Amino acid sequence: MNATLHLVPATAEPVVQARNLRQVYAIRRGLFRAPDQLQAVGGVSFSVLPGKTLAVVGESGCGKSTLARMVSLIEQPTAGELKLGGVDVVTAQPQQRQALRRAVQLVFQNPYGSLNPRKKIGAILEAPLEINTSLSADERQAQARGMLALVGLRPEHYDRYPHMFSGGQRQRIAIARALMLKPSLVVADEPVSALDVSIQAQVLNLLADLQQELGLAYLFISHDLGVVRHIAHDVLVMYLGHTVEQGGKKTLFAQPLHPYTRALLGSTPGLAGQAAGLSRIVLTGELPSPLNPPSGCVFSTRCPHAVERCRVERPILRQLAERQVACHLAEQFIQPAASQH
Ligand code: SF4
Repeated sequence: MNATLHLVPATAEPVVQARNLRQVYAIRRGLFRAPDQLQAVGGVSFSVLPGKTLAVVGESGCGKSTLARMVSLIEQPTAGELKLGGVDVVTAQPQQRQALRRAVQLVFQNPYGSLNPRKKIGAILEAPLEINTSLSADERQAQARGMLALVGLRPEHYDRYPHMFSGGQRQRIAIARALMLKPSLVVADEPVSALDVSIQAQVLNLLADLQQELGLAYLFISHDLGVVRHIAHDVLVMYLGHTVEQGGKKTLFAQPLHPYTRALLGSTPGLAGQAAGLSRIVLTGELPSPLNPPSGCVFSTRCPHAVERCRVERPILRQLAERQVACHLAEQFIQPAASQH
């Protein structure tokens, strides 16, 4: 890899810090009715250090993509604190905001739709530099060619069009484009879910190599714990806009305590038997509407362990057995071996 393209200074300061982040949408369902409140994200907190990956997991509709849009500055949070590189994004001045936009880059799920089919790869990679820097054409070209090599593509690819590439190669191009402005944080929204399984591993390996080489922080959005297992350092499990369990990947995978985390792990091929000693939970029923969330625990309508207390009292996110978990009964799910630490 090109050793000259170091993007981030080594520092122990979090690249992104979120505290009690909320996103509420007003939904109009009639001309004369007051708008309903849809809470897409209901108070989520996390931080990500340089060189680390936080995976945000949950079913479609759990709020993870809304979270990604807030962190990418596409949407302003309704409430809570969001800091990028120590700068509060809500109170940032326009010039600071512009710099923050460059520091956070997105990689989307669909490599087919995210590249302009009429532009050659060189032009696609150079576009962010043209808009955001005063580099000369030669300098832009040199950086684009260096980036192609960094993501494992060949020099002749510079003059080709997106349709001439496979899905995995297109996602490499999308990753290269995201890195052109030397971001400190990459928000990757289901970046491998549109790819064949064999290609997924190659792209995940590339992301891991780039992280090590460049000190990048990743916010990795995924519904697939099998993918998360390969890339994450920490995991945040979301359900209906709320964090239900959050902690180190090894801790959560070895001993998930929240019934929803257990259900997700149990439904992932290759991981179902990993959390020793726990009975498998099969998810039934639909995710409730965020316009009409259950009272008490948000998971109570699908949880096989729910008791009366769960339906009336919302569990707070609390520290237990080396992670945070929001479940009244979480102590009951600690296995003896893990409780001995
Ligand atoms: Fe299930 Fe109750 Fe725990 Fe919610 S609080 S996850 S309903 S046991």
